[in-house]
Amino acid sequence: MGTRAGRAAGAANDAAAQVCDTGPGTAEGIIAGDTSADVAVIGGGVIGHGIAFEAMRSGRSVVLIDDAPGSGASWAAAGMLAPVSELHYQEEQLLELMLEASRLWPGFAAALDAGAAGADSPAGTGYLTTPTLAVGADAADRRALADLREVQQACGLAVEPLTVREARTREPLLSPGISCAFDIPADHQVDPRLLITRLAGVLGAEGGSFVRRRAAGLLWQDGQVAGVRLAGGGSVRAAETVVANGLGAAALEELPAGLALPLRPVYGDILRLRVPPHLQPLLTATVRGMVRGIPVYIVPRQDGTVVIGATQREDGPSDPHAVSAGGIYQLLRDAQQLVPAVAELELLEATARARPGTPDNAPLLGRVARADGGDVPGLIIATGFFRHGVLLTPAAAAVCRQLMDFTPDPRWGGFRPDRFSRIPVTSGDSPKKEAA
Ligand SMILES: Cc1cc2nc3c(=O)[nH]c(=O)nc-3n(C[C@H](O)[C@H](O)[C@H](O)COP(=O)(O)OP(=O)(O)OC[C@H]3O[C@@H](n4cnc5c(N)ncnc54)[C@H](O)[C@@H]3O)c2cc1C
Repeated sequence: MGTRAGRAAGAANDAAAQVCDTGPGTAEGIIAGDTSADVAVIGGGVIGHGIAFEAMRSGRSVVLIDDAPGSGASWAAAGMLAPVSELHYQEEQLLELMLEASRLWPGFAAALDAGAAGADSPAGTGYLTTPTLAVGADAADRRALADLREVQQACGLAVEPLTVREARTREPLLSPGISCAFDIPADHQVDPRLLITRLAGVLGAEGGSFVRRRAAGLLWQDGQVAGVRLAGGGSVRAAETVVANGLGAAALEELPAGLALPLRPVYGDILRLRVPPHLQPLLTATVRGMVRGIPVYIVPRQDGTVVIGATQREDGPSDPHAVSAGGIYQLLRDAQQLVPAVAELELLEATARARPGTPDNAPLLGRVARADGGDVPGLIIATGFFRHGVLLTPAAAAVCRQLMDFTPDPRWGGFRPDRFSRIPVTSGDSPKKEAA
C-alpha cells in the first residue's frame, strides 16, 4: 500500500514537473512563432488554456502563447471549486459568476475527458464532487462561521450544521476539540496541474498550436487588434486576441490607450504532503477551517496526497516565488489543530505564487470600450481572477466564446476590463503606436 501511495505521489510529481519545467502536454503542436490563427491567447495558466479549449471547441483555430505555461498562480492553486465557502460580503455579482462556473464544471470536465488527450496526457483532471466541511477551532471561530452561514443562506446557498460527533463520524481524523462543523455539499475540487496538462493534451491533439515565447505586445492594423507581437521578434496574427496572462497583462505593450489594468500580486504559500499508508485516507472531504480567526484548508487528493493552504500576503518579496517561513509555520500549526495527524505527513513541497488581484476582487473580463461607443475590435481581456481562477475557468471560457460569437451575456457586463479606466479610451482605438 505504501509503495502504491508512493508511486501515486511520484506520478503526480512527474506530471507536475512536466507542466512546470517543459510546459504541459507533449511536443505536439509546438511551433516557433510567425503564424496566424482565428484566436491567439496570451498566457497559458488555467484561464488561457480554458479559453483556448473553448475557442477550439467552437470550431476556431487557436494559438496559445506562453514561455512558461502552467508556472504562474495556477501552479500553486489548491483547485477548490468553492462558490459557497468563498462567499464574501458585497460580492453578489461575483457569486453569480462563481455559481455559473460551478454549474458549468461537470460538463467542462466531461468534455475534457471525452476529448482526444494525446498519448502522454495523464487520465483525467482530478475533478471530484466530494463535499467540503467548514470547521471552527474555538468559540469565536464558531460564531464567525455561524454568521457567515447566515449570509450564505440569505444568498440561497446550502450550508448545514453538523454536530462534532457527526462530523467525526464522517471524518474520524478530525480533532475532537473542534468547536463546530458545517456541511457544504456544493463545494468541490479539481487538480489544477492535471487540468492544465489535460487541456494542453486535448488542444495539441485536436490541432491547437503552442508558441513557447513571451508576448511583448499587441499588433494593430486599421484600428483593430490584429494579433500578438512576440518578444525577440516575430508575431502571431489573429482575428481575436485574448489577453489572459494573469499579472503580466498590464505590462503588455500597445494595449489600448487609456486602458488601466490595476492588477496587484497577492502572494500565497501552500504545501503539498504525502499521507502515509496507515493514515489513508486522511480525509474524504475538503476541510476548510477557521483557527483563531485565520483560515486554513486541507484538500485530499485521489493520489494519496493532501494540499494545505494558503496564506494571503501583500508584501513584496524580492523573489516572487519565495516561500514565507512564518506562513508555512502558520499553515502547519493551524492544520494540525483541526487534524492532529497532519504532524505525521511527509512534506513534499512548499510553493508560493502571486494571485492576480484587482481592486474589487472581481476579474477583468470582456472587451474594451472605445470613446465612440463601440468596442476595440479583435481584443478580449481575461485576467484578475484573484482567488477564484480555477473555479472560474469554464465561466471565463464561456464568456470569451460568447464575446467571439458577438452574443455577450449582459449578466457579466459588470466585469468589463475598462471599469477602472478613468481616461476615456481614445477614438480610433489607437495604442501608443500602431504596429503592422
Ligand atoms: C496559493 C494559491 C492557492 C489558490 N487556490 C485556489 C483554489 O483553490 N481555487 C481557485 O479557484 N483558485 C485558487 N487560486 C487562484 C488561482 O490560482 C488563480 O486565480 C488562477 O491560477 C489565475 O490563472 P491565470 O491563468 O489567470 O494566471 P496564471 O496561472 O498566473 O497564468 C498566467 C500565465 O501567463 C504567462 N505569461 C505572463 N506574461 C506573459 C507574456 N508576456 N507572454 C506570454 N505569457 C505570459 C505566465 O507564464 C503564466 O503561465 C489560488 C492561488 C494561489 C496563489
